[in-house]
Amino acid sequence: MIIAKLVCEVCGNETDVPVCCEQSMIVKDDYMLCCCKSEDCGYQPIPECCGQKMNYVRT
Ligand SMILES: [Zn+2]
Ligand SMILES: [Zn+2]
Repeated sequence: MIIAKLVCEVCGNETDVPVCCEQSMIVKDDYMLCCCKSEDCGYQPIPECCGQKMNYVRT
């Protein structure tokens, strides 16, 4: 299982990557996708903090 966090470069705020189908979502082309890439799951935008997109960090 992939464990990842989203971290803000500016303020250091950390948040867990959203989970879909019991796995952390993956980042592709500025969007977060479900690992299973099912069309039912779709995608969602990367959360923003301090006016910029948060960094995806694997732990
Ligand atoms: Zn899913
Ligand atoms: Zn921030």
